[in-house]
Amino acid sequence: MTIIPEIRVATNSDVARCTELLEVLFSQEHEFIPNAEAQSKALSVIIRNSEVGRIFVADIDGVIQGMVMLLFTVSTFLGKKVALLEDMIVAPAWRSKGLGTRLIDHAVNYARREGFGRITLLTDSDNDTAKQFYHSKGFSKSGMVVFRKLLDEGTTMTNSEDNARMCQECGYVYDPAEGDPDNAIKPGTRFEKISDEWACPVCFAGKAMFDILV
Ligand code: FE
Repeated sequence: MTIIPEIRVATNSDVARCTELLEVLFSQEHEFIPNAEAQSKALSVIIRNSEVGRIFVADIDGVIQGMVMLLFTVSTFLGKKVALLEDMIVAPAWRSKGLGTRLIDHAVNYARREGFGRITLLTDSDNDTAKQFYHSKGFSKSGMVVFRKLLDEGTTMTNSEDNARMCQECGYVYDPAEGDPDNAIKPGTRFEKISDEWACPVCFAGKAMFDILV
């Protein structure tokens, strides 16, 4: 059976459910930790201010099972409006059922119709599924590299350096930038994302024996 979701623009009453979906997304991505208050605040700002962007949701029988957003800006190069595609997420139970395709097609068609010249998006460098998906949708990888400067000291966006952990048994340091490739942990894997089955590669102590390295 083909599921036909209704793709529509998010409204205020969708904020709580979209916040839940973002929690799923940020738990998957290496660089982000979910914060429901921050997410619902930002979603409300976008919904209230149509010049900032649009949030599209996939509604199945009254429940939102996927979302994507376009945030608007301008390109001096193109001399046109352009959009950042952000927060593309489908609820885990609804993956591989065409929802992602419908959401992205809807966003692309919207941008085209409204005269936007380009859509840019970021994805985790090791997320092959996402990369293949965007490629199949006509996105191509840019040669540019992302640089960031966090302006709020209190922000808990993690980066690979500040998340090193030390084994309290033997002193082995887990560096997320390096991962533990001998034990199938790819470089760039945050300590929190490692399976609980994993153990210190030196002394075999469990994950609980690791403390944050300060
Ligand atoms: Fe150890």
